[in-house]
Amino acid sequence: MSTHQAEAVVLRKWPVHEADEIVSLFTRNHGRIRGVAKASAKSRRRFGGALEPMTWVSASYVERPKQDLVRLDACEVLSSPLSDPVNYTRAAALAFYAEVLEEALPDHDPHEAVFRLVLAVLDQTRDGRIWMPVTYFSLWITRLLGWMPSLTHCTLCGEPFGAEAAWFDAWSDGLVCLHHKKAGSRILTAESLTLARRIFQSPVAALAIEEWPANRAADLRRFATQSLERHLERKLHSAAALAKLAEGTGQSVPSRRTRTAIAAGEQGDVSRANSVEAMMHELNKE
Ligand SMILES: [Zn+2]
Repeated sequence: MSTHQAEAVVLRKWPVHEADEIVSLFTRNHGRIRGVAKASAKSRRRFGGALEPMTWVSASYVERPKQDLVRLDACEVLSSPLSDPVNYTRAAALAFYAEVLEEALPDHDPHEAVFRLVLAVLDQTRDGRIWMPVTYFSLWITRLLGWMPSLTHCTLCGEPFGAEAAWFDAWSDGLVCLHHKKAGSRILTAESLTLARRIFQSPVAALAIEEWPANRAADLRRFATQSLERHLERKLHSAAALAKLAEGTGQSVPSRRTRTAIAAGEQGDVSRANSVEAMMHELNKE
């Protein structure tokens, strides 16, 4: 048995047995791990709101011989997503980070750059301004996972895009020029290409002063999401919810469970608040 104290971000949790929960954590030094939180569903005293997805915590856990699951003993909150109001839109953004990380990160494989990215975007994902950090995260995580193609040249002929738009589709990697676009391709505007290059040269905080309405760089988010989905070989439920919200066709009336959880979060009742988790549950049912 070995005891660890690790900085981590909570990704998900699932109930097991009567009152235990399995928690997926992205730790700074050991990558993604899974642990059992004993009696966490029954007694909130030990963990409080620390197991809410996308909470930055200091976790104490014990690795046990020949067991995949660690034993999670305590989690101290370093920063909680519930410290800012959690409405449906913000919950969707947090659920998007959690879903991508949960699906994309391998077990026990630390990734310092991804960890720093997550903390940086979490800090910017505030009530009423989620679209910049969501866009920033979707592009950077694609790149850090090694799945971002060239943003400057056509994948097929190598011609530079220069000041022109590029095209992409859901079935193949990379961006292509106007001459090589297929039927059903989508456009990535020249403006969005320029923005993508700026995102790769700027810390997230530097972009926070700009106006980011929901429709800004929607094509970039779609492009990054399609790259992620193709490599993960599955659809990202939270990305679909975000796209609907950006188009103004998203859920405007959350389910009762989501509303209850969100209300608890807004009242600062961390013991009852499962807002991001409730959101993820709703999305996974669709
Ligand atoms: Zn071409």
